[in-house]
Amino acid sequence: MAGKRAFIFLGPPGAGKGTQAKRIAKQLGVPHLSTGDMMRDAVARGTELGKIVGPIMQAGQLVSDDLVMKMVEQRLKQPDCEAGCLFDGFPRTLPQAEGLDKILERGGFGKPVVVDLAVSDDKLLRRLTGRRTCSVGGEIYNVYDAPSKVEGVCDNDGGKLVQRADDRAEVVNQRLAAYHRQTKPLADYYRQQGVLQEVDASVSVDEVSRALGEIVKRAEGR
Ligand code: ADP
Ligand code: AMP
Repeated sequence: MAGKRAFIFLGPPGAGKGTQAKRIAKQLGVPHLSTGDMMRDAVARGTELGKIVGPIMQAGQLVSDDLVMKMVEQRLKQPDCEAGCLFDGFPRTLPQAEGLDKILERGGFGKPVVVDLAVSDDKLLRRLTGRRTCSVGGEIYNVYDAPSKVEGVCDNDGGKLVQRADDRAEVVNQRLAAYHRQTKPLADYYRQQGVLQEVDASVSVDEVSRALGEIVKRAEGR
């Protein structure tokens, strides 16, 4: 990859950030850094961090900036981030975006490539309540729109498909409210920096991938 680049996928919960990040990170050869996945892992392992963030995630609220920034900073020190990385679900607040700018500058990264994946709220409810994730490899499915071949079983590795605790309808509304209040303003923040690109993420997974693939190619000057 040309230069050391950070890619950021913005967008509401359920926009398809994880689904697309898995594909595009592979294409770019950079790690996919999902702060949600990192914290779910901490919860599953019962770490100190996991004990703090578990109840906050269950309530559909955002975890404090301080904890999230520390976790990201630690992760970026790993050697696999040397060539760059793709953030999914981070930053989610203005202080996180400002903190990330400083980290990227210190780390010798160029300006980030920020893509806002836009989907209306009415579509998100179906995507979130229908989402199932493989408990082994993390592959993402949807019982309505992208089902596995055998119900409840991952096509890739036979792992059990599970529903995230925060994908229940009651919590989804809290998460969407947190997105509109705290995360949506980041689009303006990055637009003002001249680094924001917008993609219609309400179309099919392959169509969104194609649009993202073009953006990534342009960013790399290919
Ligand atoms: P996010 O990481 O933004 O929360 P996910 O990638 O986990 O979103 O996708 C949320 C749900 O929507 C999953 O069930 C996924 O299969 C489904 N999904 C993702 N992209 C699309 C799409 N373009 N069209 C229809 N469903 C999609
Ligand atoms: P996600 O997997 O991105 O949908 O995130 C799931 C949950 O993890 C969110 O609802 C928050 O509780 C928490 N979370 C993930 N990323 C962040 C972040 N950058 N800042 C604050 N909380 C986060």
